[in-house]
Amino acid sequence: MSDSLFTDASKRLETALKYVSISDDVIEHLKYPKASLSVSIPVRMDDGSLRIFQGYRVRYDDTRGPTKGGVRYHPNVSLDEVQSLAFWMTFKCAVLNLPYGGGKGGITLNPKTLSRMELERLSRSYIDAIADFIGPDVDILAPDVYTNAMIMGWMMDQYSIIRRQITPAVVTGKPIAMGGSAGRDGATATGAFFTMEAILPKFDLIPQETTVAIQGFGKAGAVLAELLAKAGYRVVAVSDSQGGIYAKKGLDIPSIRQYKTTTQGVKAVYCQSSVCNIVEHEIVSNEDLLALDVDVLIPAALENQITEDNVDTIKAKYIFEVANGPITSAADKRLEAKGIYVFPDILVNAGGVTVSYFEWVQNRSGLYWSLEEVNQRLRQKMIEETEKIWSVSQELAISMRTAAYVHALNRLGEARKVKGTRDYYVNGKD
Ligand code: NAD
Repeated sequence: MSDSLFTDASKRLETALKYVSISDDVIEHLKYPKASLSVSIPVRMDDGSLRIFQGYRVRYDDTRGPTKGGVRYHPNVSLDEVQSLAFWMTFKCAVLNLPYGGGKGGITLNPKTLSRMELERLSRSYIDAIADFIGPDVDILAPDVYTNAMIMGWMMDQYSIIRRQITPAVVTGKPIAMGGSAGRDGATATGAFFTMEAILPKFDLIPQETTVAIQGFGKAGAVLAELLAKAGYRVVAVSDSQGGIYAKKGLDIPSIRQYKTTTQGVKAVYCQSSVCNIVEHEIVSNEDLLALDVDVLIPAALENQITEDNVDTIKAKYIFEVANGPITSAADKRLEAKGIYVFPDILVNAGGVTVSYFEWVQNRSGLYWSLEEVNQRLRQKMIEETEKIWSVSQELAISMRTAAYVHALNRLGEARKVKGTRDYYVNGKD
C-alpha cells in the first residue's frame, strides 16, 4: 500500500534532520500538527434542499508566529491532504523567514457544480464553523486550488460580521477593493519566476534556448507561462484538468490566456473553458506533458503527479515545483539518481505566501503599497533565500529540497529554543 500524503511528506523532514543539530524536542514537536478541526458545513442549495459538506482547518505549527495557509475546494480534499499542506506551509514560511507558522484548510467538493450563490453560502458557512479557530493573530486564510479573491472577500466579510469588527488581516488574497494587495494575484508565479531567474543562469541556460512545459493553467501556472514567454523562454506545452496542448515552436500564451478567460461560461465563478479547445496545436494528455523532452518542467496543478509509476518517463533536466507536493519522495530519489535537478515547492511557490504576508502587513498598518513596491520586495526576498539555499546545497552537497528543509529547520530550531524554556517549566523539567 502506498504511504499517506502526510507520511510521505514527513520523509523529507527525516532526510533533512541528518544535516542539522537541533534538539529532539523540536523534532518531536514537528512530527505532529498543533491542532486539527473537522467541521460539517450546512448549505441551503438553490432548490431549497439542505446539503452538508465536510471541511477542515489544520494549524500545524505556530512556533514562529500565527499559522498561515490557503483554503482548497476540491473533491480530493481530506484531513490527510490538509495536514500535509499545513506541514509544508510551516517550512515554507520558515524558508522565506516570514513571521508565521503553517496552516491550511479545505472543503471536499467539486465547486464547479455549485452556483455562485451556493458558493457564497458555502464559504460563509465554512467561516461560521471555524471562526473560533482562526484570527489575524492566530490563523490567517488565503486562496488555494479553486478558491479566489472573491471567495476570500466573502470569508473576510463573514468573519467581520461574526466579530462585529472589520478584520481584513484574517484573510489574504482579497479583492483590492476590500484590502487586498497589489500583486497578490500573480504573486506565486512572479515569485517562481524570480527563483528561476536566480537559478537558471547557474546552469548557463538562457531564455531563448530553453524549452518549458507547464502542467496546470490556473492562478499559478497560467501567469508563470505568460511571464516566461514574455522573458523569451519557449513555452511549448501547457495543460489543465482536461488535458494539454503542445507546439514544438512554442505557444502563444497571451492568446491562450485570453481564450480561457473570454470563453468562460457563467456558471459560478470558474472558468469553464479548457486549453484543450484550442485546436491548432497538438493535443497531449497530462501524462504525455510530463514526459515531454523539454529543458524545464513545471508541475503547477496538484500533488502526487510524478510518482514511482511515471518517474522513468521524465526527460526534463530541471523541475520547478510550483504545485505543492507534485513529486513523491520515492520519485524524488529516482530523479536525483538520474541527475535531474528538482527545485522544491517550499521555495519555488513561496511568492504567494510572501505577498500574503505583505497584504497582512498593509492591512495592519493601513498604508498600501504600489505594485512596483510589492514586486521589488518580493524579488529581493525570493532571490535572497534562493541564494542562501543554493549555498547550503553546494556546501553540504545535498539536493535543493533537502537544503531548503535544512534552512527552514535551523530557523524553526532557533525559535523553538525560546519556547523550549516554557516547555521545561510546563513539564517540570530542569
Ligand atoms: P487554480 O485552481 O487556479 O488552478 C489549478 C489548475 O490546475 C487549473 O488549471 C486546473 O484545470 C488544473 N488541474 C487540476 N487538476 C489537474 C490535473 N489532474 N492535471 C492537470 N491540471 C490539473 O490553482 P492554483 O492556485 O494555480 O494552484 C495550483 C498549485 O499551486 C496547487 O498545488 C497549489 O497548492 C499551489 N500553490 C498555489 C498558490 C496560490 O497562491 N495560488 C500558492 C502556492 C502554491
